[in-house]
Amino acid sequence: MTSKIGSTVLGYPRIGPKRELKRALESYWASKSSADELREVARRLRTDTWKQLRDAGLDSVPGNTFSYYDQVLDTAVTFGAVPDRYRKLGLNTLDTYFAMARGVESTPPLEMTKWFDTNYHYLVPEIGPDTTFSIADRTPVESFREAADLGVTTRPVLVGPLTFLLLSKPAEGAPEGFEPLDKLDELVDVYAELLAELNKAGAEWVQLDEPAFAADRSAAELDALKSAYQKLGSLAKRPKLLVAGYFGDLGEALGVLGASPVEALSVDLVAGGSSVDRLTSTQGLKDKELVAGLVDGRNIWRTDLDKALATAATLLGSAREVSVGTSCSLLHVPYDVEAETAIDPQVKSWLAFAAQKVDEVVTLGKALAQGQDAVSKELAAARAAVADRAGAERTHNSAVRDRIGALKPQDARRSEYGTRKKAQEDALGLPKLPTTTIGSFPQTTDVRKARAALTNGSIDQATYKQRMRDEIERVIRLQEDLGLDVLVHGEPERNDMVQYFSEYMEGFVSTANGWVQSYGSRCVRPPILFGDVSRPKAITVDWATYAQGLTGKPVKGMLTGPVTILSWSFVRDDQPMADTAKQVAMAIRDEVHDLEAAGIGVVQVDEPALRELLPLRAVQHKEYLEWAVESFRLATAGIADATQIHTHLCYSEFGDVINAIVDLDADVTSIEAARSRMEVLDDLNEVGFGRGVGPGVYDIHSPRVPEAAEITDLLRAALAAVPAERLWVNPDCGLKTRGYAEVETALRNMITATKEVRPTL
Ligand code: GLN
Ligand code: ZN
Repeated sequence: MTSKIGSTVLGYPRIGPKRELKRALESYWASKSSADELREVARRLRTDTWKQLRDAGLDSVPGNTFSYYDQVLDTAVTFGAVPDRYRKLGLNTLDTYFAMARGVESTPPLEMTKWFDTNYHYLVPEIGPDTTFSIADRTPVESFREAADLGVTTRPVLVGPLTFLLLSKPAEGAPEGFEPLDKLDELVDVYAELLAELNKAGAEWVQLDEPAFAADRSAAELDALKSAYQKLGSLAKRPKLLVAGYFGDLGEALGVLGASPVEALSVDLVAGGSSVDRLTSTQGLKDKELVAGLVDGRNIWRTDLDKALATAATLLGSAREVSVGTSCSLLHVPYDVEAETAIDPQVKSWLAFAAQKVDEVVTLGKALAQGQDAVSKELAAARAAVADRAGAERTHNSAVRDRIGALKPQDARRSEYGTRKKAQEDALGLPKLPTTTIGSFPQTTDVRKARAALTNGSIDQATYKQRMRDEIERVIRLQEDLGLDVLVHGEPERNDMVQYFSEYMEGFVSTANGWVQSYGSRCVRPPILFGDVSRPKAITVDWATYAQGLTGKPVKGMLTGPVTILSWSFVRDDQPMADTAKQVAMAIRDEVHDLEAAGIGVVQVDEPALRELLPLRAVQHKEYLEWAVESFRLATAGIADATQIHTHLCYSEFGDVINAIVDLDADVTSIEAARSRMEVLDDLNEVGFGRGVGPGVYDIHSPRVPEAAEITDLLRAALAAVPAERLWVNPDCGLKTRGYAEVETALRNMITATKEVRPTL
């Protein structure tokens, strides 16, 4: 008899159902508790997860899914890829690890970036020609033993060697042309050693995650995949291997892995739904186990189990064995719907968080193995929930649909830019190189306290409002004192730039406990967009007009754009994203109009997530960018020429998205640029971007306050690329995260620099 994996999940949340790990980490970092106390919290979380997954009835429980910070960092540490600058700190193992993750006074952390197209962030390993791999840390083996001692046989999960190297960057000083992938053979040898150790420890299966192959890969990279798995598969002493590809269709990598000597493959049939045909025609699968990722690991809706079973049925002949799994790790969803006591009961009945998804996998697995009768009750309940959601009145708002149905192309078009520019100059009368900020000002303890007090009922709405107004007045006075030209109200009333808006729109619910790890101890609580979206009444107008009433200078209205709202929410999956984006766009458009009607002449619509939501495969970019751009234009059109639209993007490496930035047709675009020394301006010139642009001149990620002279230099560099009449002066985004003392000095220096440059124009 050949053993199989059977029903499983690819990974599980680890921050703790009550964010226990977050608290333990932050307490340890603040030196309020010991390393042993932290380890104890971690051990308990691992134990609870293993037991829960086993008791829920999964055939195979994933192991090594716990992390103190990030699984990519763990992989680097396991294989000894610790840059010298962290070794030299002379810290113990745990603190070296945290130094890489968070930096220490003398040494900044590793770069952090987004994990594929999710909102999870990983730390970017640095690999150079001199990096020597070894098994430097044995957590994968130790955690296998820890689980075994509790009576749970786990399937250790590791980031695969290809994905690890493809996500790494060349270490500083590596010769031109060096790629981390050049080190593949050496790394694979050490993976082989680790597999041998796991084998010895009793691991029957090991899972190697290779999501990098859900994105476009070169022929050389596919060859590297082939040779690595040929080698790992041919080892004499090793556990059976499950290679997991997720976040999309594996494309050509499927054939490569199919032909390799690994025992099992896991495929994402949610994000890579189109791959069913490819799977049935992949010859090499016939002697493998296929783990069909039918339960969505990234969204929170209950699975249509009948549909999932039908898909599984079409796959039955194509592999030796077909099992059921999640599309990807459950890291990207909250723990448990049952912890939500305040969500509307009908909407709640449509949801499945991690715990519920495990049950779905178990049900599907039983249905496949023993027939549907064995789980008829569970299938009936799922069927009823899916039908209830599909027929629910509350997801459907005819007024919203009629309005969108009646839209014409010109509804998303403003007049020609030249005309607008003239009208805006007349209306605003700004000096050359106008100065502004990106929106938020430092969120003080008082502001946070006031919000907490409102939530727990110890102050009333009127008191809260007055405190926020006081804060707004302070921020306005400060900006006037500094001499900024276009002011902001500072966003003190906002907890988060997406959640804040979702709370005022129809079609969303918020969770009380639906936390998802973003990075390290940081969690987000994405709102759930379940139905047609509308904005019953103005959200920001009262704050904006209050701020405008305090000053003669223009105050920018501050909104979040439709793509960002979608990107940072759990979005309904029963209609195309493009349709949902239009609805959100119309809600924002209503707000833009109300701001304009209330006398706000400048409105900024932030789209920091425009690039985040970009599909992993280039063939899908065009379609995405079309609807993304269209939704922004819909949100910002239909207003007077004199009303100036700003947008803000948090990054400067636009890649494929650069043309879309032109197409947004915003009057002014602010972007991050301080770290890249204004290079982005050349990129924009190349694609003929001819609008106002505000490259950030103050890098807010660094605690250093720039001198006026440095900013003068940056402005001169910017002026070499952009004519003065298009250049705006602003910091990078994120003032919210810094303290008033630094912000005030930095902005003062920014104004000094601007005043120095202006007369030379
Ligand atoms: N207006 C927001 C702010 O300044 C923009 C935040 C962002 O770019 N992520 O905080
Ligand atoms: Zn930003």
